[in-house]
Amino acid sequence: MPAPQTMQSAAPPHIAISRVSKSFASRNGTVNALTDINLSIEKGEFISILGPSGCGKSTLLMLLSGLLPVTKGRIDVDKKHIGGPNADAGIVFQQDVLLEWRTALQNILIQAEIRGSDMTEARERAHTLLKMVSLEDFEGSFPKELSGGMRQRVSICRALLHKPPLLLMDEPFGALDAMTRDQLQIDLLRLCTESDMTVFFITHSITEAIFLSDRVVVMSPRPGRIERIIDIDLPRPRRLAMREDPKFLQYTRELTAIFKGLGVFREEY
Ligand code: ADP
Ligand code: MG
Repeated sequence: MPAPQTMQSAAPPHIAISRVSKSFASRNGTVNALTDINLSIEKGEFISILGPSGCGKSTLLMLLSGLLPVTKGRIDVDKKHIGGPNADAGIVFQQDVLLEWRTALQNILIQAEIRGSDMTEARERAHTLLKMVSLEDFEGSFPKELSGGMRQRVSICRALLHKPPLLLMDEPFGALDAMTRDQLQIDLLRLCTESDMTVFFITHSITEAIFLSDRVVVMSPRPGRIERIIDIDLPRPRRLAMREDPKFLQYTRELTAIFKGLGVFREEY
């Protein structure tokens, strides 16, 4: 018998972070890195975590990856409790961690070698990805022959080789110059259009968070809590010129005011 209308519940979120806290034991006592984090993420969403240094952003990403256990609460992905490393996720860090003795292509293919995937297919996919980030002429280059932006593009391709349903990125563009960073943001959004991958993106740049995201999660300084979640209602594809749109600037003002209220920005002279 079909369930009555009122009994039907909405589909569970792709990722459910429920009442999660994380503390670390240190020489000076316990550090509470995250307190009572609740967040639901839908499949295909681009979520940015925005907050000052030390507010627990990286810790939250490590909990999602399953590489760190939660102290309290739980995290479910597709209704499955994360109890250990989530091998499906792709991860990109601020440092590209490329192997210097392998070419760009060979660095990307590591992912397939580790997973024991079909290498012909992997090679084809690697070529497609390299082309999408305009590196098709550099597949035979070694990391030391590439610029910082090119190296980070290679590491993004490596993370995407196995078509991960979830991409975790921890300040991936934080070490790049401003112009390279702009281009990498576009490159990333282009890569996102080929699948319904969910992206969990950490940044401390207000502009970057607005430009990329469907939602921006604002974290307060230590101990990290979710202060606000802001929907970014801007059309896609996103263009660099949108950063001057009145609506974009309104989001910038709103987020700046929140951080001012949290004492992250102080403007007395
Ligand atoms: P963010 O990425 O936002 O800069 P982190 O998640 O790296 O912040 O760190 C949050 C807090 O947790 C910081 O106070 C940091 O010192 C502490 N912390 C992070 N990892 C550890 C650890 N392994 N041991 C002890 N303290 C840690
Ligand atoms: Mg961090």
